[in-house]
Amino acid sequence: MKPSHIEHIGIAVKDLDAAINFYEKILGLKCYNIEEVAEQKVRTAFFQIGQTKIELLESTDPEGPVGKFIEKRGEGVHHLAFAVDNIEDQLTGLSENGVRLIDKIPRTGAEGLDIAFLHPGSTFGVLMELCENKKKAL
Ligand code: ZN
Repeated sequence: MKPSHIEHIGIAVKDLDAAINFYEKILGLKCYNIEEVAEQKVRTAFFQIGQTKIELLESTDPEGPVGKFIEKRGEGVHHLAFAVDNIEDQLTGLSENGVRLIDKIPRTGAEGLDIAFLHPGSTFGVLMELCENKKKAL
């Protein structure tokens, strides 16, 4: 597959504003974007560190994926996102290698990226996301 870098690390939090405060005041990072992704039932906040971002995720609905995650496992690292090119081809290749896909077809995630999740049952317990920034080529 050959991802170019870790695009972001997704972290589930109960209170986005309190978490932003910690990342800004204590860690000294700057939140550059807050965005609600209605489809995923989350509110997200982004911080840039080098080529990588931290994506804080607050659930807007206890029945949403992050709400259920926090209920089961508490706050913490939720997923790891790899930057890739040709995301459709990557998904086809992974599927041919027997990797279970949550998204067989990419969808639009935060920041307008094309994203798709791989099932943690196929990736040694880590929820993995592929991200392609198709706008960057323009
Ligand atoms: Zn993500």
